Amino acid sequence: MSRSVLVTGGNRGIGLAIARAFADAGDKVAITYRSGEPPQALTDAGVLAVKCDITDAEQVEQAYKEIEDKHGNVEVLVANAGITKDQLLMRMTEEDFTSVLDTNLTGTFRVVKRANRGMLRARKGRVVLISSVVGLYGGPGQANYAASKAGLVGFARSLARELGSRNLTFNVVAPGFVDTDMTKVLTDEQRAGIVAQVPLGRYAQPEEIAATVKFLASDDASYITGAVIPVDGGLGMGH
Ligand code: NDP
Repeated sequence: MSRSVLVTGGNRGIGLAIARAFADAGDKVAITYRSGEPPQALTDAGVLAVKCDITDAEQVEQAYKEIEDKHGNVEVLVANAGITKDQLLMRMTEEDFTSVLDTNLTGTFRVVKRANRGMLRARKGRVVLISSVVGLYGGPGQANYAASKAGLVGFARSLARELGSRNLTFNVVAPGFVDTDMTKVLTDEQRAGIVAQVPLGRYAQPEEIAATVKFLASDDASYITGAVIPVDGGLGMGH
């Protein structure tokens, strides 16, 4: 059955792979993008692209109105949009910290809260939040990012308890290092250092994250909620 799926930050990287996976399965997919233009191939494939900065509550409201108008209530939400502003603590400004929290954590709150309206009415819904191995493992220079990604775990688990009786599930996917623009900024030396710590000895491809997200939104995952699923090549094992 074709569902109304929303992927935030679906114009590139992991979000794009997730949007493609749902579209290939025949779902009605909407993505949000913040800047530039969405990939032509995606819109040609019938994906609805809506401009929306998730740090702006009004833009989130407008995006939902457009999506609901064209695809009906969102039944599957993948909160994927996120940023990094890495810096050692002594040099990290308050703006470095709050802007990352405002996008990754509060931005997720905005889109999840708005999606819940329709999900509660329908008494069903699937929410998948994209966290990171760094959320629980930590990362030097990533106190802001790790705090935001760890926050998503408490957020999802609270909602799993609050809304489980309404047939809503909330799960977290925690990717390791994935080949996208976000990790392109790392030097070859940093990259080699990371890969040396990953039991599978390589970065993930965005499609490998998308496969787990698709599973969590499927009927096969009907009894999974409040879970944190690592897709990290073994990097975060043990936390
Ligand atoms: P990219 O940098 O490639 O893409 C980030 C996406 O988020 C873009 O679509 C971007 O839009 C969007 N975005 C950022 N800020 C906002 C905002 N304020 N409002 C709306 N959209 C916004 O990142 P990845 O694909 O690598 O990462 C996707 C998610 O996966 C992120 O949450 C990231 O933290 C997480 N992750 C990534 C890992 C990696 O190794 N790459 C590892 C673990 C987790 P725009 O194109 O307009 O900038």
